[in-house]
Amino acid sequence: MSGKLFLVPTPIGNLEDMTFRAVRILKEADVILAEDTRTSAPMLKHFGIERKAYSHHQHNEHQASSEIVRFLKEGKKVALISDAGTPAISDPGFFLVREVLKHDLAVECLPGPTAFVPALVNSGLPCDTFVFEGFLPVKKGRQTRLKKLTSEQRTMVLYESPHRLLKTLEEFIGYFGEDRQASVSRELTKRFEETVRGRLAEIKSHFENNILKGEFVICIAGAPEPEKKAKYNRNDE
Ligand code: SAM
Repeated sequence: MSGKLFLVPTPIGNLEDMTFRAVRILKEADVILAEDTRTSAPMLKHFGIERKAYSHHQHNEHQASSEIVRFLKEGKKVALISDAGTPAISDPGFFLVREVLKHDLAVECLPGPTAFVPALVNSGLPCDTFVFEGFLPVKKGRQTRLKKLTSEQRTMVLYESPHRLLKTLEEFIGYFGEDRQASVSRELTKRFEETVRGRLAEIKSHFENNILKGEFVICIAGAPEPEKKAKYNRNDE
């Protein structure tokens, strides 16, 4: 019988967000893979998970995958965690999932913490349909991506690092206009959590005058629908 690869979400700041099942799966796993074993060690210890974790990050995921596939074929349970949130969401994981599926082996992602869902819901912007853009490319392809997003009508959700936030908001004003509604959520689930909502210009000025520390998710309202052409002209009425 072959094993299973479990993708296990871990808290993005508040340890109370760990699920019972995440703890059980990590305790039962034969192998735990962690993006950064030093970052995950205190969290694993907190939940009484004694097993040693092995590192699995973007620089070794290609070589490591054949060994992981072998473990799974031997019937082992392998659990993958990232530093925070859901693995494979702007974190290592996708490559491994694809390799494991290529070998017809089982994959299961547990539901759990991730930053973009609370940020989107807190934003107050439409969340019936949305697009998750993760981190924009830093250099090559950035302007092309931004240009493409100007016609996006769904709410857009993006991750950004603190040192690029102001520059990115400035660029967004250039592409989407200073009046476009948006929100920035900072330090979700942590002590200094805040969500700033309003026009892009207002949000930028808020963060120009406040400390730019922590982790950030940006949500931007989609472009307004182009006015529908009148179905009938007046003569048809
Ligand atoms: N896998 C994670 C997830 O499921 O959300 C995302 C990992 S990505 C490397 C890290 C980025 O996620 C941060 O730069 C930030 O944009 C966002 N993020 C993670 N934790 C956050 C938090 N507590 N508050 C706000 N944003 C957060």
